[in-house]
Amino acid sequence: MQLTSYGAALEVTGSQHLLEVNGKKILLDCGLFQGRRQESFDKNSLFSFEPSEIDTVVLSHAHIDHSGNLPTLVKKGFTGVIYCTEATQSLCEVMLLDSAYIQESDAEYMARKHPDTALTPIEPLYIHEDAELALKSFKGKPYDKPFEVAPGVTVTFREAGHVLGAAIVVLDIDDAGDGKKKRLVFTGDLGRYRLPIIRDPYPIDQTDYLLCESTYGNRTHDPIEEGIPALARVINRTIKRGGKIIIPAFALERSQELIYSLHILIHEKKIPDNLPIYLDSPLANAITSIFKQHVELYDEEIKKEFKNHNPFIMRQLRQTADVEESKNLNHFIGPCIIISASGMCEAGRIRHHLKNNIEDPKNTVVIVGYMAENTLGRKIVEGNKQIKIFDHMYKMNAEVVIMEAFSAHADMNDLDGYIKPINSLKKVMLVHGEIDQSEPFAERIRAYTGAETIVMKPQVTIDL
Ligand SMILES: [Zn+2]
Ligand SMILES: [Zn+2]
Repeated sequence: MQLTSYGAALEVTGSQHLLEVNGKKILLDCGLFQGRRQESFDKNSLFSFEPSEIDTVVLSHAHIDHSGNLPTLVKKGFTGVIYCTEATQSLCEVMLLDSAYIQESDAEYMARKHPDTALTPIEPLYIHEDAELALKSFKGKPYDKPFEVAPGVTVTFREAGHVLGAAIVVLDIDDAGDGKKKRLVFTGDLGRYRLPIIRDPYPIDQTDYLLCESTYGNRTHDPIEEGIPALARVINRTIKRGGKIIIPAFALERSQELIYSLHILIHEKKIPDNLPIYLDSPLANAITSIFKQHVELYDEEIKKEFKNHNPFIMRQLRQTADVEESKNLNHFIGPCIIISASGMCEAGRIRHHLKNNIEDPKNTVVIVGYMAENTLGRKIVEGNKQIKIFDHMYKMNAEVVIMEAFSAHADMNDLDGYIKPINSLKKVMLVHGEIDQSEPFAERIRAYTGAETIVMKPQVTIDL
């Protein structure tokens, strides 16, 4: 059997790994590469393999860098089944349509801005109909129940503890036809222990091969426990000044973690219970509804804390329905919390809230997520005093608070703790990380497991 990484090799986005076994081609993830516009368009629109030859896709989770290029795959001829967990299927139903909308509006914007540049892609990567077609191929499967994806290849989804529905993909493979099974485990994105809402990552006790993410292979995070009390301090300080708290947040998981955290703070009377909380993002609202439904995936802690009460239903929470309601927030007087997308402030309603609020020193902007280079969010994190939004300069007079406790990725200690107990490891392949994170991680794995450990290079096939 052979494995080739076509994306998320020496980089973090565009997760795509092809497993060839028993004459079948199984694609693990089909994520969108996210980077500079032209490079992204080229990478995402041209596959280095023939989509029609792929037999099956196994999807680890709904994040766009893992699922976002499925509509292109289907558009280019893939006709097989896309297996994922049931929650991932529900999430993709809203996230892939949202992604299609972004592709369409982006192409429209570029066509308007550069009508005469031949180089600029003015065709969207895919449209609504392509995403809808891809969604028809999805087959949701429960966690912990093995199922066959190809002759001699069984898959079991295990909790990854990363975002709702995220799975560690365990493949049990009989590639010699002699009944002797080899195991390959694909971590997808591995979460953190004690992350709110969802369960901890499922411990794998044995595998021959491990295809492992390495986003934070050489970095540690602030402890999760520091997040909620830090949030309370910022909120109370801002209320005292009579200001608003503006939080850019990713629509999946981060927005729900914030709602959950605020709910806990209200329960414990650490913040006033008459403080309005606005979730102002259509995507985050749709995803929150999916979180409300998947009670079976909550961890024991949340069940204890909320008993028969749903953590995502509270009277203080207002989920804005339309643009009008969102605009009305501009005229709201007095303290409130506004959680809005996009997470890196590059698109969506958050830009309006920043524009309207950052010049007032009473207000606070709370950064709870990763901000990539060249994004508006990164400019805020870097402490710029002048911020450009919609082609206008605004003075950053508001307080800026950066909280690193809210991360959904395992850090180096979590990763080491996850791998050390695994028995009979023969080979570890590292993906989904930049070289400064993957290389030192590979060194450590070699030292504590003795297993051959390689950092996967793009389009280089390895034998297993
Ligand atoms: Zn992810
Ligand atoms: Zn990822």
